[in-house]
Amino acid sequence: MTTEAQRPVPAPDDESAPFFDGAARGVLMLQRCRDCSAFHWPVCEVCTECLRDDLEWVEASGRGTVHTFGVMHRVYHPALAKDVPYNLAVVELDEGPRVSAAMVGVSNEKIRVGMPVQVAFEEMAPGVFAPKFKPR
Ligand SMILES: [Zn+2]
Repeated sequence: MTTEAQRPVPAPDDESAPFFDGAARGVLMLQRCRDCSAFHWPVCEVCTECLRDDLEWVEASGRGTVHTFGVMHRVYHPALAKDVPYNLAVVELDEGPRVSAAMVGVSNEKIRVGMPVQVAFEEMAPGVFAPKFKPR
């Protein structure tokens, strides 16, 4: 008998709960500094621009462009074996932060740097949604 490897799934906690609550509604949430208006990703406690700790969660546009990407041809995790080759992109959001996520709705061969994209959430586990990006 074999045990199938489980896909890694994000684990929401108190700090990231606003992000995952938004994701479940199909909305990309980002932290923004109330003092200098800088947007942040990933979750942080202190603004990396002005070092103040007055951050708020706001709805982001969910829009951005592909900054860079790679296509994985090796099995780096056994649960992803059937997905090889799969892609991983770094998307620069219109708000500024760069987010690592997979591209969906496009073949690996058609992904391009500079491609305009829109967030699309995928349910990774019951009630836990993670961002992916699709061309727009
Ligand atoms: Zn700031």
